[in-house]
Amino acid sequence: MILSEKNINSSPHLPFGDQRTAPWYGKSILSVKQFSKQDLKYIFEVAHEMREMVERVGTFDLLKGKILANLFYEPSTRTASSFTAAMERLGGSVIPINEVKYSSVAKGESLPDTVRSLECYSDVIVLRHPEVGASALAAQYARKPIINAGDGIGEHPTQALLDLFTIIEEKGQVDGLTVTLLGDLKYGRTVHSLSRLLSLYNIRLNFISPEILTMPREIIGELDQKGIPSQELRMLEEIIPETDVLYVTRVQKERFEDTKEYEKVKGTYIITPETLSVAKKDMIVMHPLPRVGEISMDLDVDPRAAYFRQMEYGMYVRMALLAMVLGKA
Ligand code: ASP
Repeated sequence: MILSEKNINSSPHLPFGDQRTAPWYGKSILSVKQFSKQDLKYIFEVAHEMREMVERVGTFDLLKGKILANLFYEPSTRTASSFTAAMERLGGSVIPINEVKYSSVAKGESLPDTVRSLECYSDVIVLRHPEVGASALAAQYARKPIINAGDGIGEHPTQALLDLFTIIEEKGQVDGLTVTLLGDLKYGRTVHSLSRLLSLYNIRLNFISPEILTMPREIIGELDQKGIPSQELRMLEEIIPETDVLYVTRVQKERFEDTKEYEKVKGTYIITPETLSVAKKDMIVMHPLPRVGEISMDLDVDPRAAYFRQMEYGMYVRMALLAMVLGKA
């Protein structure tokens, strides 16, 4: 048992032993490349216990007195609010800084200076930024842990962790599954991080996208090197019957220089109840959200539609990560 009401409440300072020896204490979370299979097992055990604790008591004081700075240079609904909910469910508090314009940086402040200022007031910084590598840059300057909440078209490690946690909670395991990733595989950072995490398992991957939005060669190369069977396709129909997890993404409009190009590909795939008529009875459909038409709302009543459950799993994973980097798990 990693968490219990008793050990949380009886010893408020170091409930789980000496925090300095906790393996993730003080570490930044920048890329899924940091995680071994063993780490994932641990994170998901803690996340599972967070889920049980929330179901039992709602809110508890594991991170009482700790402060999170939520620094978002790009819009966010789910990620920002789920980090807030995670921190508050653990008894901590949040400094919300949303949609910072490049310039408040409006006054021309650099990212290293912004994080070095914010860490004077907080214990951990969650950062979303439009540039690939921004979190890594911030972590070079910060003394407190930085959690990457999306760096442009680069990575979104906490989303990938919650995606994997969703697969484990819903399907029981990852090994042996066929996962089909569909949509904007070029600009979608969640599918970049998720493919890398899935490559730690014994898995088959299908990549379905328009010609101009294929998975970056770098990631395909990494998968090949690890011996992960994968194929790239344009059509979903033939692959649906063998798919265990269908992970749908939106076309990332904000990444296109030419909106005409976006218009050409935006409606390429639309998942409807008919699409699933030949799918396995126990397959699941996931989506990092927001959806903008690629999954019809008629599908929401199908028990295989897992995308809203996926959001809830996200809060438990983020609770686990916050507890870990703050030395409480
Ligand atoms: N919310 C996810 C992200 O921040 C997916 C998306 O925006 O399409 O990457």
